[in-house]
Amino acid sequence: MADFDIIIQGGTIVDGTRTPRYVSDIGIKDGKIAQIGGLKGKTAERSLDAAGRIVAPGFVDLHTHYDAQIFWDPYCTLSGWHGVTSVALGNCGFGFAPSRAEDRDRAMLSMTRNEAIPYEAMKAGMPWNWVTFPDFIDSLSRTPKGVNCLTYVPLTPLYAWVMGWEEAKKRRPTEAELQEMCRLIHEAMDAGACGWSAQVLGENSIQRDYDGTPMITDLLSEHEILTFAKVLADRDEGFIELAYRQTGEEGRPLADDAREFFEKVAAVAKRPILYQAVTPNSVHPSQHRERIKWLEDCAARGLRVYGQGATRRGGFEMTFEDWNLFDDTAAWREVTLGTKAERKAKMQDPEMRRRLKEEWDSGIRPTQVAQGSVGSLVLQGEKAGNTAEFGQTVQQIADAQGKHVIDALLDMVVADDLATEFFAPTQGREAAQFTTEVLNSNLVVAGVSDGGAHVKFLTAGIYPTDLLIWLVRDEKTITLEDAHYKLSYLPAHMGGFKDRGAIREQAPADIVVYDLDKLEVLPSEVAEDLPGGEWRRIQKSKGYDWILVNGQITFENGEPTGALPGKFLRNGRG
Ligand SMILES: [Zn+2]
Repeated sequence: MADFDIIIQGGTIVDGTRTPRYVSDIGIKDGKIAQIGGLKGKTAERSLDAAGRIVAPGFVDLHTHYDAQIFWDPYCTLSGWHGVTSVALGNCGFGFAPSRAEDRDRAMLSMTRNEAIPYEAMKAGMPWNWVTFPDFIDSLSRTPKGVNCLTYVPLTPLYAWVMGWEEAKKRRPTEAELQEMCRLIHEAMDAGACGWSAQVLGENSIQRDYDGTPMITDLLSEHEILTFAKVLADRDEGFIELAYRQTGEEGRPLADDAREFFEKVAAVAKRPILYQAVTPNSVHPSQHRERIKWLEDCAARGLRVYGQGATRRGGFEMTFEDWNLFDDTAAWREVTLGTKAERKAKMQDPEMRRRLKEEWDSGIRPTQVAQGSVGSLVLQGEKAGNTAEFGQTVQQIADAQGKHVIDALLDMVVADDLATEFFAPTQGREAAQFTTEVLNSNLVVAGVSDGGAHVKFLTAGIYPTDLLIWLVRDEKTITLEDAHYKLSYLPAHMGGFKDRGAIREQAPADIVVYDLDKLEVLPSEVAEDLPGGEWRRIQKSKGYDWILVNGQITFENGEPTGALPGKFLRNGRG
């Protein structure tokens, strides 16, 4: 019998803890890193020649929405393709448990707009073999997986369970209802959930329910949230993932009341709070700088508020067939609601156009996701004879045509039957200097993938590969040691992935082996690989020789091996 299952030979180990890199062999046995170094003369079932390669801990992705997808895609791609070996589910307060059988459709509908997950894919791809949250955890545990996962208790289904989907938007819960929800959080955490999550963005929430109304959690009061925070203090365990108010508004400082609120939650919970999100902003760098300063100030006062960074280059590739992230203004929300035929009709309606222009002219613009709003959308693709304007912004096209920007955009979109392809730039994340500033904070992790969400226009799951290529290899503003700390060790610590995120003896063998010079993010493509005949936009990677999860090779040269060694991590353990 061989001494080890696998030996990774001669690789350059960057262990995730910021220890300077070193060359050594790693012996893996029974899913764990059994021994580092001292392997001369030892045998293994399989040896991986890692000479000239980086050997690093698998990436830990704290912000995903794979709650549905994990049931039909065990590798949780794009994340699986980009070296992620552990994911957190149930973010932003959205999910599917608890849910009574008669509420399943409603629960799936709730994910169609806020996270833009196609209904038909969920309908065809989810087993729905649970009712309670502990049932859901059992289902997740039994489901064969190519990555490890843990889950928050999302607050939306909890409110829907206790109060009803519609009732929970009409009134605040009674104390008895609140106490019942606390009991359910305890029950879920007893079963292995890692904490709770909520998106609390208020009446003007940008991520809304299927009918355009705010999500249940958008309306939560401070009292309710602090009540749930107390559950974690009572248990002395768990984590909170929280998006609060419009914290991503372009150029604006985090409002005092939002800061105070996070601090209050952290003080009551006495546990880590993951703040969404610290977004580098090259147009208004004060925006990310003051957030980082605030996180540091919290840390100095013993408050564990951590920042989820948004560190990837690139924006959205979208058409108005699917786009729904202009929900932060009333007129745009209305135009983008309804069936395709209804939306097209609204785009041509003179009264609707008047309202859109009135908003635009008075400075009210959907700005949360695209810098410069709709005027900065860049025409791309090969649709409908628009070649003359290819690569131009909507504003440039409007100027050339002598039209209002709203008319120029909607005339084009309507003429194309909504199929015109645009690139929506993000709020100035493209400058290495500013993303480096964000990553230089010890209180911010790399991200956000939003994996499993916004599947027709977002491919942010590339962020680990993009970070290594962009800031480590090409710009050289971040060391490999720092990058792997931010991709694995720190997120594992912040999200409660016990014993993961580092290469050390006795830790689970979640490992990536790659050639930094050959690392690539492949171009975006449309993949018709969702259940229910649905499609998504994807970007694969190149340059990862091997990805291992719990000591088994899940990807070899970018191809899945079929091995499904992923575990559900109860309370982060496993
Ligand atoms: Zn989210």
